Amino acid sequence: MSKIRFQALAVTLNRKPVKVIEATRRSDLFGENVFNESTMRQYLTKDAFNGVMNAIDHGTKIDRKIADQVSSAMKEWALSKGVTHYTHWFQPLTGATAEKHDAFFETIGGGMAIEKFGGSQLVQQEPDASSFPNGGIRNTFEARGYTAWDPTSPAFIYGTTLSIPTIFVAYTGEALDHKTPLLRALQAVDNAATAVCKYFDKNVKKVTSSLGWEQEYFLIDKALADSRPDITLTGRTLLGHSPAKGQQLDDHYFGSIPSRALNFMRDLETECMLLGIPVKTRHNEVAPNQFELAPIYEESNLAVDHNSLLMDLMGKVASRHHLKVLLHEKPFAGINGSGKHNNWSLSTNTGVNLLSPGKTPMSNLQFLTFFINTIKAVNDNEELLRAVIASASNDHRLGANEAPPAIISVFIGAQLTKVLSELEGVTNGKLSPQEKTDLKLNVVGKIPDVLLDNTDRNRTSPFAFTGNKFEFRAVGSTANCAKPMKVLNTIVAKQLKEFKIEVDALIEAKDLKKDEAIFNVLREYIKASKKILFEGNGYGSAWEIEAKKRGLSNNKTTPEALKAKISAKSIALFEEMNVMSKIETTARYEIEMEEYVMRIQIEARVLGDIAGNHVVPTAIRYQNLLIKNVTGLKDIFGNDFEKHAGEQIQLIKQISGHIEAIHTKIDKMINVRKKANKIDDVEVKAEAYCFKVKPYFDEIRYHCDKLELMVDDSLWPLTKYRELLFSR
Ligand code: ADP
Ligand code: MG
Repeated sequence: MSKIRFQALAVTLNRKPVKVIEATRRSDLFGENVFNESTMRQYLTKDAFNGVMNAIDHGTKIDRKIADQVSSAMKEWALSKGVTHYTHWFQPLTGATAEKHDAFFETIGGGMAIEKFGGSQLVQQEPDASSFPNGGIRNTFEARGYTAWDPTSPAFIYGTTLSIPTIFVAYTGEALDHKTPLLRALQAVDNAATAVCKYFDKNVKKVTSSLGWEQEYFLIDKALADSRPDITLTGRTLLGHSPAKGQQLDDHYFGSIPSRALNFMRDLETECMLLGIPVKTRHNEVAPNQFELAPIYEESNLAVDHNSLLMDLMGKVASRHHLKVLLHEKPFAGINGSGKHNNWSLSTNTGVNLLSPGKTPMSNLQFLTFFINTIKAVNDNEELLRAVIASASNDHRLGANEAPPAIISVFIGAQLTKVLSELEGVTNGKLSPQEKTDLKLNVVGKIPDVLLDNTDRNRTSPFAFTGNKFEFRAVGSTANCAKPMKVLNTIVAKQLKEFKIEVDALIEAKDLKKDEAIFNVLREYIKASKKILFEGNGYGSAWEIEAKKRGLSNNKTTPEALKAKISAKSIALFEEMNVMSKIETTARYEIEMEEYVMRIQIEARVLGDIAGNHVVPTAIRYQNLLIKNVTGLKDIFGNDFEKHAGEQIQLIKQISGHIEAIHTKIDKMINVRKKANKIDDVEVKAEAYCFKVKPYFDEIRYHCDKLELMVDDSLWPLTKYRELLFSR
């Protein structure tokens, strides 16, 4: 029975790093397989090139004639690189990416065939998409969904397929994917931020949101990972006793990268280069066999696509190296889980990062405007921001004594805290010339210096300002970044829109100068946003108490957290900013609740199976050995045998106790699951799974893990933590 474990271990012991061939100059490879600006210049007519560039920069429509030219050029380029198929590549609400390949090949009669790819195939497709989650937007009998080309994210060659990034919408126009609402949110923040920028610089025509994600993951030997049914089916271990050594020595973090992992990374990075994913940083993370990868930041839509593509690519490259990538937020109990920090900022078409102070007092006032408006947006929408990162798997990290808590707060560092408190003292209404000069010289004017020596870092904060960007750290490692980016850009857009209205009103009604009005509004925002600012230890229990006093939400589980998505306030927000209709918002809520139920349901089944069919029979086998031993001792020693068999008898009893506990708990878990399955209302059902079914996981695990420590190692069927985490 324990064969698989030992076979896997034997295979692992013989592994060697897989050789990789790497170009010395990565810049030579960069974007080689992307139909990017430079490829387009080469392959497109001037008209077609300008048509696409206008669509990218100004959102203008691409007409059919140009689409035909583009598709034909794409085909020529792709064929020259050995490509045979094309696909519309999209991100449905399953959490994975989707693709359906069609060959360029077409028959033309007379026994002949050609390679064809027309404009209409580039622009729009109608995949048979009835099985994607839609939250009730489509009935299956009316299952039509369309994919439509997103020219702002360039087509790329993946394997031998030309992949065209697309949005995915229902026949009736509702979004069925992550990209569509993200694009709308990016438009909203562009509109609102550009309008605010005009206070400072009339030349600003466009504001772009940037994202730099940092992806954490585990790398486990493939044979070992495959030997565990829980990893195979749920992406995490549902049981397993902690090894004697975990991460307590901090010897993995930033340590020398193990050879097999390093070769995987080099191979992966080469693939990333070809696909135009600008990966830059790699290192060991805190937990054993945990690593991180980060790119240079990009425009948010592109960065989101690149992260989705990367997650897929990682799995493929890993299998070449006989490794398995675990993206799950908490694959192993007792050691750190994985997140995906989302570094976010806004910048103008004139090249200014709006979250970075400039050289003049006026540009610093612009920085403060965007900085404070972001804080206010988070303050007013903290619960929604928590909701957007909620998932069954991320619940294991947030609020579970590990970075970061389920409470959203903003960290800005001591220096900027001081700046805000000084601004809070700005006079109401008109400012005296003296006050203005003072503000310019001593507060606003000093900001760049302040930031230079602002080395504050607070790793426990879920939303931290880090010099020229905000870093949203609570995002889960499996998440599609479109979700947090959609919400963040929408709430900031809404906030900036309000800011503009308030500033204009003060200029109009109170006859204030522009900068006076801005100072006045910012002062009120600082006062109104105090509850969200927190500089202390986010992991501490004192913060939970303090946060409660401040009225901050602390939704520890997904069913509780998700509710904020469909509050009247959230629905109105998404509608007002043209990001999602009420139908779209509620559909997503239903999909996520359902997904939560299914994930817990799968885990419950797998746990029941492993505990009942692997652990218990193994324990019985071992117990039988002990019984045999005891009877043997009795044969030899007669009535005196208990003197020699005391320990064994104790073990036999303890094993029986654990077996009994496992069986009763599995039965009870199955019963509550059956009851939960009968519930129609998805919200009530999710709560039943969360509060009635899930609590059995830890209880069952406890007894299994105890048995792992008792049973003869050579009989134990499940690959152990020390083997999974320390095989390199
Ligand atoms: P950390 O100290 O958190 O690791 P880094 O400076 O290494 O921070 O950056 C992490 C990520 O943030 C990278 O992807 C980087 O490109 C990105 N980043 C840097 N500046 C910005 C910015 N202005 N806007 C968005 N992302 C940024
Ligand atoms: Mg970071």
